Amino acid sequence: MNPTAPTPPSVQSVECTECAASIALQRVPLCGEIVRCRDCQAELEVTSVSPLRVELAPEVEEDWGE
Ligand SMILES: [Zn+2]
Repeated sequence: MNPTAPTPPSVQSVECTECAASIALQRVPLCGEIVRCRDCQAELEVTSVSPLRVELAPEVEEDWGE
């Protein structure tokens, strides 16, 4: 189907959805991985890796309700 392996991108960066800072990534993140913005400490969840996209990760709270 895909005879050639996808070229691994080099260092990438994504834009923080909170403060628009550029977050440099040392490697390709996994979908669902959490990255933290160094500027505003926001936790961003990787929702897509191609193209690379992040969303503000839901705050983990003690919410075990429905
Ligand atoms: Zn930020």
